[in-house]
Amino acid sequence: MSAASGPEIDVADYRDVWVFVEQHEGEAAPVSWELLAKGRELADETGESLVALVVGDGVSHLAEEAVARGADRALLADDPVFEPYRADPYGEQFRALVEARKPSIVLIGGTHTGRDFAGRVAVPAHAGLTADCTELAVDEAGLLLASRPTFGGSAMATIKCPAHRPQMATVRAGVFDAGEPADGTESAADAVESVEVVVAEEDTLSTVLERVVGGVVDITDADVIVAGGAGCEGDVTPLVELAEALGGEVAATRAAVEEGWVEPARQVGQTGKTVRPHLYVAAGISGAVQHLEGMNGSDVVVAVNTDPNAPIFEHADYGIVGDLHEVLPALTAMVREKRE
Ligand code: FAD
Repeated sequence: MSAASGPEIDVADYRDVWVFVEQHEGEAAPVSWELLAKGRELADETGESLVALVVGDGVSHLAEEAVARGADRALLADDPVFEPYRADPYGEQFRALVEARKPSIVLIGGTHTGRDFAGRVAVPAHAGLTADCTELAVDEAGLLLASRPTFGGSAMATIKCPAHRPQMATVRAGVFDAGEPADGTESAADAVESVEVVVAEEDTLSTVLERVVGGVVDITDADVIVAGGAGCEGDVTPLVELAEALGGEVAATRAAVEEGWVEPARQVGQTGKTVRPHLYVAAGISGAVQHLEGMNGSDVVVAVNTDPNAPIFEHADYGIVGDLHEVLPALTAMVREKRE
């Protein structure tokens, strides 16, 4: 961004890495802890503090968990006006804190919620906001390097904002490892600062009349994924049945999605979702680099392919050379038998 597109600021006034802890009804979105773990790395590199920002109603436990997970401090804006989520009170509270405290880097999950209000913080601050990032780093000058796929996923763009603050990024869920909270969280409460709530119910522009949850599947939370590719040849029943038996979700390559066999929300890869399940079954999938990019954080990969030379086998913990229409039903039968 050019310095001409906003007021002149002294970037030296801005310090610290902030992570927004997204929550719904008191439960943290997994991306929050993923970003906190990454934020810790960035803060250690820049020599700054890592600050968690927790907004909600009755959410002090999340501020304490953020500290237990590595934040140096947590800022807590706790008030009924923040439940349920609405963009205007969240955006206004966040904007006021950014203006008063001047963070250098602000990381927000690239979820529906994060995307909804991040612009309300970035625009008035004339901040640089890079959306839907899949990689984060800092350069030798401490500037945020925010990378994201571009040109339909055919190239990666790395964006930095030398003249504007804060440097903001929304980040895709599932691209970083969340890690675990440290033991012994007794001192966590001391590192939580309750901040002044700057929004009142009468000032908010919107009222939530009804919340409709569901409809669109979210495979990024799944512990078990059974994914299929072009090798399904139009029949995804073996995937669905194995996923059901294992209590997991069905996913697919772009090839299977483009054929219309599986809905687009279940596509894994560079232009789909990034997933990190405990178990990823890749059936009839060749192992193209764009697909691997979305699933190579899986704990255990089982590949099923008729071609013993398929590249997916190089990325699998267990490989089965065979027809998925025979192998998957056999696995399903075994799982069902064990469960009985
Ligand atoms: P194929 O490569 O055709 O592989 C099918 C495999 O099935 C083969 O290995 C074959 O041996 C095996 N097979 C056939 N029959 C059977 C059977 N009966 N039983 C078992 N195995 C069988 N792809 C993604 O997945 N996600 C993305 O997000 C994505 N983004 C992309 C972005 C860009 C810019 C580009 C250029 C491409 C992208 N792609 C993406 C496409 C990617 O390059 C591959 O084309 C795609 O992943 C291939 O899908 P596939 O493995 O299902 O099909």
